[in-house]
Amino acid sequence: MSAYDLVIVGGGPGGYNCAIRAGQLGLKTAIIEKRGLLGGTCLNVGCIPSKALLHASEYYEAARTSFAKMGVMVEGVSLDLPQMLKQKDEAVDGLTKGVEFLMKKNKVDYIKGAGRIVSPGSVEVTGPDGAKQSLETKNIVIATGSVPADLPGVTVDEERIVSSTGALTLSEVPKKLIVIGAGYIGLELGSVWRRLGSEVTVVEYLDRITPTMDGEIAKMFQRILTKQGMKFELGQKVVGVERKGKAVKVAIEPAAGGDRRTLDADVVLVAIGRKPFTTGLGLEGVGVRFDQRGFIETDHYKTTAPNIYAIGDCTHGPMLAHKAEEEGAVVAQLIAGQWGHMNYDIIPGVVYTNPEVAGVGKTEEELKAAGIAYKVGKFPFMANSRARTNHETEGLVKILEDSHTRRVVGAHMIGVGVGEMIGEICVAMEFGASAEDIARTCHAHPTMTEAIREAAKGVDGWTMQA
Ligand SMILES: Cc1cc2nc3c(=O)[nH]c(=O)nc-3n(C[C@H](O)[C@H](O)[C@H](O)COP(=O)(O)OP(=O)(O)OC[C@H]3O[C@@H](n4cnc5c(N)ncnc54)[C@H](O)[C@@H]3O)c2cc1C
Repeated sequence: MSAYDLVIVGGGPGGYNCAIRAGQLGLKTAIIEKRGLLGGTCLNVGCIPSKALLHASEYYEAARTSFAKMGVMVEGVSLDLPQMLKQKDEAVDGLTKGVEFLMKKNKVDYIKGAGRIVSPGSVEVTGPDGAKQSLETKNIVIATGSVPADLPGVTVDEERIVSSTGALTLSEVPKKLIVIGAGYIGLELGSVWRRLGSEVTVVEYLDRITPTMDGEIAKMFQRILTKQGMKFELGQKVVGVERKGKAVKVAIEPAAGGDRRTLDADVVLVAIGRKPFTTGLGLEGVGVRFDQRGFIETDHYKTTAPNIYAIGDCTHGPMLAHKAEEEGAVVAQLIAGQWGHMNYDIIPGVVYTNPEVAGVGKTEEELKAAGIAYKVGKFPFMANSRARTNHETEGLVKILEDSHTRRVVGAHMIGVGVGEMIGEICVAMEFGASAEDIARTCHAHPTMTEAIREAAKGVDGWTMQA
């Protein structure tokens, strides 16, 4: 008889949420994590520490630049970087301990060590002291996540040439920071260090930032970041990164061909994306197939090996914590013999800069490419009373409705706090709402959410407040 119903390899948002749900459903469950701490990339070196630094650096910048206009006089604002890093570590520490508590609460065995799948019913764990143990199980979920993608020819030393992990722990503010890659991780961490005093240049191969974002919103986002002092080198290929002592030189040339230039930096952040992590799991030996980019192939979370499932960043779909979390809960339900469903059309994405950017569903570009007729409603925060009162008027809300079905199929916004506001649209879309459904729903005044309502009215041409 198998000792476990389910063994989960990897303790990130995918793995630990799968464990909680499995525990709730009465499955005898173990979770294996090699990092020494639960929470995965997200809690340890991703979502949480980056948001802790974004939040603190936003206060620092506000204290220096915008408190006075509201009559709040603070003198001698200065940066205590060790304290800022400490409060970030405390947030991480509290949350990882919280996840460990949740394992106990749901009667999940937490086993520290590296898991290797020996056969569809057996996982070998090598503990931190090198001791090995074998776990017999009916089902296995692979939730081993992802790691930063490498830039060929560039060696990350996590000191002067850093990945996102190193950029969360710099011991001093670099005078010049070059960020390679204009995705959300590079722009968030670039924003942190710019607020703390770095001169930040973002180098991007494509001719635009944040490639999957709605084009109009991405353009506005770039304009705002530029106004804040970030510089952009778009359409530029990085052809070399060389460290000499404390200095780093980044050689770039136009992606379309042309003259090579060299940019100087104190620190270079390589943020060109992430790649799935499955090293050392022994997957080839048990018949689990990968695609060409190293993602585990799945069909409804099932891999090509019996009773082995994969979720989160190591398999297809957006590499986001809430996608991994949702898949974790769904696959636990399927293993427990219940229904399991996830709506991949409604996975929000948020960039936690200031202002924030949030989007869900289709972009205008995607609707055009698919030949879907749509109507659009927009509302600028400049005309929203709460935004004006708070002196936070940058940005807009845009809502897209399918002209044929009259369902909202996408919404994209840029503005202060839109990362919280996008949830309203996700719920509306799950319930198959039309823009009119949102427009006829009473929203509190004065709130930024009234901009959603006004944009929704705009879909049918009756925006009232602009
Ligand atoms: C700087 C940064 C900021 C981010 N910000 C956000 C954000 O704001 N919002 C958002 O949604 N997403 C964000 N992400 C992405 C998010 O962190 C990932 O999408 C999420 O962590 C994926 O969850 P996962 O469970 O699939 O994998 P992971 O979180 O990567 O966890 C996998 C775990 O498996 C462990 N593991 C691997 N192999 C083994 C093995 N053989 N045995 C035992 N354990 C193993 C690893 O140690 C790791 O802890 C951010 C990422 C970064 C880097």
